[in-house]
Formats: sequence, structure tokens, C-alpha cells
Amino acid sequence: MTDSPDDGDRDWFGTGEPTEASGIVGEYMTLRRGAEADVLAMQMGDFYEFFGEDAELVGEELDLKVSQRSSGGESYSMAGVPVDDLAPYLKALVERGYRVAVADQHPVDDGHERRVDRVVTPGTLLDPTGDDAQYLATLVRDGDTVGLAFLDVTTGRFHATAISGPDAEARALTECYRFAPTEVLPGPDARTDEALVERLRERSDARLTLHDAEAFAPGRARHILGEQFGDGATESVGLDTDAAVRAAGAALGYVAETGAGALASVSRLRTYVPDDHVALDATTQRNLELTEPMTGNGRSLFAVLDHTETSAGRRLLREWLGRPRRDRAELERRQGAVAALAADAMARDAVRETLDGTYDLERLASRTASGSAGPDALLRVRETLAALPALVETVEGSPRLADSAVADRFADLDREGARKVREELAAALTDDPPNSLTAGGLVRPEYDDDLAELVGRHDEAAEWIDTLAEREQREHDLTHLSVGRNRTDGYYIQVGKSEADDVPDHYEAIKTLKNSERFVTDELAEREREIMRLEEERGDLEAGVFRELRSWVGERADLLQAVGRAFAELDTLCSLAEHAVRNDWTRPELTDDDVLDLRAARHPVVEQSVEFVPNDLQLDRDRRFLLVTGPNMSGKSTYMRQAALVTLLAQVGSFVPAREARVGLVDGVYTRVGALDELAGGRSTFMVEMQELSNILHNATEDSLVVLDEVGRGTATHDGISIAWAATEWLSSAQATAPSPKVLFATHYHELTMLADHIDTVENVHVAADEQDGDVTFLRTVRDGAADRSYGIHVAELAGVPDPVVERSREVLRRLRDEEAIDVRGSEDEVTGESKQVVFDLGSGQFRGQASADGGEGETVDPVTESVLEELQGVDVEDTSPVELLSQVQEWQRRLDD
Ligand code: ADP
Ligand code: MG
Repeated sequence: MTDSPDDGDRDWFGTGEPTEASGIVGEYMTLRRGAEADVLAMQMGDFYEFFGEDAELVGEELDLKVSQRSSGGESYSMAGVPVDDLAPYLKALVERGYRVAVADQHPVDDGHERRVDRVVTPGTLLDPTGDDAQYLATLVRDGDTVGLAFLDVTTGRFHATAISGPDAEARALTECYRFAPTEVLPGPDARTDEALVERLRERSDARLTLHDAEAFAPGRARHILGEQFGDGATESVGLDTDAAVRAAGAALGYVAETGAGALASVSRLRTYVPDDHVALDATTQRNLELTEPMTGNGRSLFAVLDHTETSAGRRLLREWLGRPRRDRAELERRQGAVAALAADAMARDAVRETLDGTYDLERLASRTASGSAGPDALLRVRETLAALPALVETVEGSPRLADSAVADRFADLDREGARKVREELAAALTDDPPNSLTAGGLVRPEYDDDLAELVGRHDEAAEWIDTLAEREQREHDLTHLSVGRNRTDGYYIQVGKSEADDVPDHYEAIKTLKNSERFVTDELAEREREIMRLEEERGDLEAGVFRELRSWVGERADLLQAVGRAFAELDTLCSLAEHAVRNDWTRPELTDDDVLDLRAARHPVVEQSVEFVPNDLQLDRDRRFLLVTGPNMSGKSTYMRQAALVTLLAQVGSFVPAREARVGLVDGVYTRVGALDELAGGRSTFMVEMQELSNILHNATEDSLVVLDEVGRGTATHDGISIAWAATEWLSSAQATAPSPKVLFATHYHELTMLADHIDTVENVHVAADEQDGDVTFLRTVRDGAADRSYGIHVAELAGVPDPVVERSREVLRRLRDEEAIDVRGSEDEVTGESKQVVFDLGSGQFRGQASADGGEGETVDPVTESVLEELQGVDVEDTSPVELLSQVQEWQRRLDD
């Protein structure tokens, strides 16, 4: 037998049998196919081996040594890890998205057999590395209803829902994005829909697993749900559609089939209504940088806001930010708690300090229930539960907290049950247990009568040995005598060289050292055997007691999860309070009125790094659509995002960065950034921009908030203006075909600002900039009205561009606007002295040559062109609506084309 993974001649069977490599590879492939795994780890004696492509893959991913073998003329790759080291490799592979099967070797009558006992997948890993939730998602389509279930085996969280209606699929995908699952199982009718599968792939990094279609059958799903939660459970939690039942059942069935014991922690299923959440699609989440920054050096809202003390708190804060709510009662409950925690700094500090010493109880509960928790995990459960009375005391000791939702949250917990678990653990486990279950010293002797007796006998034997040296010294008159123990010699009596010849006859010499001699006696050997026997018995007994204790605690997983959840919530609320206090945020008034009224509001992330100039913002029934103009870099994007972020923060239950805020609850926030402004790169084509715009035009309701940042910029000027124009009309209900959401629209298409004169609900605001001592200053102050449109030329002047150039720019600009002919200076004809003239053609977005005024040489004008030109010159631009203008230009173009 060898113990080095590099050694070529492994005894694969642990039995000394000869190996048959090609047969082995065949067996490997068969097992691998049967398990539908990406990778198979197959036990062969003391190693788990990978063959062929799998070996190459683990070699690459995990830096394992790959060797080449050949057998019967065929060559193949092979890599392996010692049996005891598999766990970390397995985890690393699964966290990279692979589905890994493990085939263990089992003894049978005539040798051994191998079978796949467990499959570890990205959605069912019990002890992932990070703190993030790890959801397994199932998605079932049933007519026009989509059933969804999300299960996190690491915490036992399990949610299911059904979405129906014409846009059910889009909403389901949004839900999927929100939960950010690590693995998705599309049901039989979802997976055949290539477009759907494609969109699932696009929207997440999740692994798509095509699980057995049978598992999605309603009967089977209902059965497994009944087994897990009891008969009638589906009705009692309100799972009333087949689609939701099928999704939930399939998720459970899948976890059961992977064989990792992860189901034990799933004690409750919650149904939820997605409509209770603010619609927040993937692009919006990304644009607003809620949990991830768009660029490497940016900071997400989450990163700025996070002052949590625990990993469960961090997980929950992230979850809250990703799913703002519409339920005013719940939000006000959270606000009340944040307010109380913000007001009582002493209590808040005490709470945070206590939480700092706690562990992730939700995850510990899962590991306990699945039987994978070791002694240190149960100690952590004990320590964390010990924080409960301390927290209750703090809460009750603070009049503010005692009167808030925080106190209610703790009142709902089964504190008596938690106390029992903690006391049981305290009574059973020693304070510094060994990591091995059988090493002894894990369980307190007084906890178990048999153990107490065993330990008593062990102590007696140990005492006999402890006092042996003294007795022997006295009896045999040997001063240099001691008793010791080591691995090879066991217990021995050691006597110094000078006295070695004086030992009694019954001393049996076993070893000679430089200055001493070692002996044993029959009696000592007898005692040694007894001690060994007792130690072994004790180890077995303690391990048994521990396992029993662990399953007793595991049966209370839902209690532990509830306490863990309450701690996480408290941590999250404290974090929000802490941030509010440090940054002078206020409690927003939440209302069902259709308003967004912010006084002296700031951008929560930008205010961290610059001296921020606060701004007001008002949107209501009559003022629903703000066209935001202003020079580049003046703060348009920041102003609009800050409105979206304040709204979202308010709907998380947080305080907000403003002096005063009144926030009408929205059903969705949609943001889009024009392709040119899109930083994310890669995807930023005009096509994507338009797809996203289309999505908003379809989905935004009158209760939504829409932020459009330079939309339409990714194409030729006049296409862009036209699209932006029409979208504005549509979203402001000027076309009366759709209810109008609240909209903020930043645009550099100045032409749009005139819409404010014609559509009642559209208003212009601009970010002011000013000139002081020859420098351009961005005031960052938002004012009513449109920006000065010749601002760019103004900047050129300030920058010292020569006067004639500035003057000429003004002239060209005026002519461009009025679509007058512009003479091209420097093109003067040598003979006539006339210059060429061009007109900026609104239709094509290009300059077009034009005859000089007197129709001079070289330029003959046909009658059609002449008539068009005449009409063009006759148009009073101020008095013609842009739409009319557009259609007129189209008409001219048609005539010129003919
Ligand atoms: P725009 O969209 O008009 O080009 P941005 O919103 O991107 O401008 O803002 C440009 C820069 O100005 C940002 O980097 C931001 O830090 C800063 N800024 C924006 N608004 C403010 C403000 N109200 N107070 C202070 N700095 C601001
Ligand atoms: Mg911008």
C-alpha cells in the first residue's frame, strides 16, 4: 500500500488483487454516465481516481498531477487524491459549477463493488466557502403559469410561488435573477423552450441541470412534499397551483437524490407573492450598482451600507437590497426598528457587540440536521444561543427598543426551547473538546451514567499509574525511577543507569537508553491493557452520546433557524441604523400617494467620496416626467440615480440620504443607460439598448419609476431624437395608450425640451453650471427649466478658443438650428468669388451641397429641388411642431428621391 498520490503502483482494491486498467476505465465510464455527472470520483482503495477527460479537467482546475497510463494498447490519463483529502477538492470543483459524482467502494462477499452514493452539485453543497445564499431553483411551465421554487440547503430556506398572466415568463426570469441561484432545474416543458433556456443562461451564472422529467410530475411532487412536511402541508402553506407544487416537489426530490443528507434541515416551505416585491430587473440592478459595482474601482450600495457583524446579517442585507418591498406595514415595522436602534446608541453598541460573538446559526442548523456537524459546530450553536438572553436583556433594558418591532421579533421566538438546547449542550459537551469524536474528553462524564462509571474506572487506573513511581521508589529503594508512556513502548518504568542493576527480578527490561533502562512488569502491562480498553470504550461511548445529542439538536433545526434569522435581522437593522446615524440620514415618510418628494437629497454612494451638493426633486400626478438637461459631467446621471436609490432604500425599510423624503411606494424601478454611456462593455449595442427600452415600455405601470439616461444616443442623431421623442410621448401618456409611470429622462437632445411646452405632465429641469473667474463651475444644483443650449460654445470661449472661432460657431449653430444654408468659408470660387453653401439635412443627418445664391456656374438646380428649397426656406421653425417638421422633411425627401 502506498500513501503518496504520485506513486504509480496503487493497490486499487486494498486487497492485493491485480488491476485491470481497461476494465476499470469501462466501469468508470458506466458509473459516470449513470450518475449524469460532469466528473466522477471513483474510490479505488485509498484513493479517489479520475480517468480520461475527467483527469485532464481536475488536473487543470485543481492543479492535480495527471499521469498517462496505457493498457492493452490504449492510453489514458489518470489523476487521484487520497480518500481523506477528497472533501476540499470536491468542494472546489462544485463551486466552479461542476456536478460531481462520488462512487465509493463497498465490500461484498467475493471482493467489492462500487456504486455512486452521492452526487454533489452547485445547488446542493452543504458547506460552501462564502456567506452568500446558495439557491437551487426549479422552474416549471404549466400553461400560462410558471411555477418557481428556490431552496437553500445551507440554511433550510425554501420558497415557492406561481406566476401567471401574459408576462409570466419575464417576471419569472426576474425572480430567478433576484435569487441568483447557483443551479437551475428547468422542468420538462421549460427546457424544450430554447429561447427560455437561452435567457436563463444569459441572466445568471447558474448551472443548468436537466433533471429527470418524472420528478416534475404533480403526483410525485405532491408525494415528496407530503413526506417532508406532512400530509396537507401544501394546502396549509397556500401552495395552491400545480405549477408551484411541481416546482417545490422537484427541488426536494433532486436534493433527496443527491444523497448528501441535506433534506433534514428543510423544515418549512414558504410561499410568497412576487408582486409584493418591487420589480427590479437585471439591468436595473446592475445599473444602480446595488450589490456589485459596474467597474473595478466603483463601490456598490451594499458595500457602502454594510456595517453588519455577522455573515448571516450580511447575507440578509444583500437579500433586502435585492428585493425591496411594497408591503407598507412590513416596511414601517423595519423603519420603526431602525429608528429605535438609531436613537439608542448604547443599546445599539451592546447589541452589535453581542452579535459579534455569534456564529451563523442558520447554517449550523443545516449541518446539525444533516449529521455533518462536528464538536466545534455544536459548541458554536451553544455559544450563539447564549447570546439570546443577553440580547433580550439589552432590548428590554432600552425603553426605545422595548417599544419597537425589535422586541416583538424576540417575543415571537421559542426562548424556552432555545434555552433547553443551550443547557443540554452545555451539560453534555466539555469546553475544549477534541476534534475527533472518539479521542475522549468530548462529553462531560456526569452527563451520562455509563460514561461516569467508565471514567471513574479510567481515573482509578490512571491514578494507580500516577502513583506507581512513588510506590516503586519506596518499596525497592530506587531514587532514579520514573513512569512514562509513549507510542512504541506503551507504559514503562524507567530507571537511571546507576541503579539499573538493583531492580527487582520481576522487572522485565525492554529498552536501553544512554543514561537509563526501561522496564515493564506484568502488573503494569495488565493496567495498560485495562486503560486502553477503557479509553476505547470511552471513545465509542462518547461518540454515541455525541451523535444522539446531535440528532436531538438537529430535530430542532427550525428553532435554531428561527433564532438565527432573528439575529440576522437584528444585525441588518443595526447596520441600517448605524449607517443612518453616521451619515445623517432621515426616516422617509412612506405613502400610497403617487409622489416622490425629496428635499436636500444625496446620492448614497457618491456622498461618501465627494462634498455632495444636495438637491430637491418633485414628482407627482401633474409633474410626472422630468427632462433633465445640462452639460456633460454636470451631474445628470447622479441626480436621477439618486432618486431611484432613495426610492429603493425607502422600500427596503432603510433611512435615506435626504433632509426630508416622502416616497410613494412603487411597484417597479426601471433604469436604462444609453449605449454610449453604458460602462459595462461588451453587451452595449444599440440593439440591446432598444430591447431594454422596449421592455420598459411594455412593463412600466403608473406605479413605476423609470430612469432613462441618454437613451437613443447609440444611433445616428436623428434616429436617436425621433426614438427619444416618441418614447417620451408614450411614457408621458401623450399617446394615451398606456398609463404613465414617473419618469426621469436625461438627454442631450435639446430638441426634446420643447415637449415640456406641449405636454402637461412633462417638465424641464437642468443641472446648473456657471462661470466664475474664467472657470466653468458645475454648481450641481438642479433648477427648473431647460439648460442653456449653447453652453458648449460658452465653454469653448471660456477655454480661450480665439474670438473669431467662437463667433463663427455661434453663427453656424444658429444656421444649423434654423436649417439655413451655411456658406463653406474657404471654398470661394476663383472667378465669381462666391462660396459653396451646404444645408444640414434633418432627414439624413448629413450636410448636403447647395447652389450658391445666384445659381452660378457649375451648379444647375432642377425644378423639384428648387421647389423643395423654396419651401424649406419658407418654414417658420419656431411655429412648426417638430412632428410636423419631421413629416414635412419626409415629404421633401420623397420628392427629391423621385
Ligand atoms: P452627467 O451625467 O451630467 O454627465 P454625472 O452625474 O456623471 O454627470 O456626474 C459627474 C460627476 O459629478 C460625478 O463623478 C459625480 O461625482 C459628480 N457629482 C454629480 N452630482 C453631484 C453633486 N450633487 N454634488 C457633488 N458632486 C456631484
Ligand atoms: Mg451621465
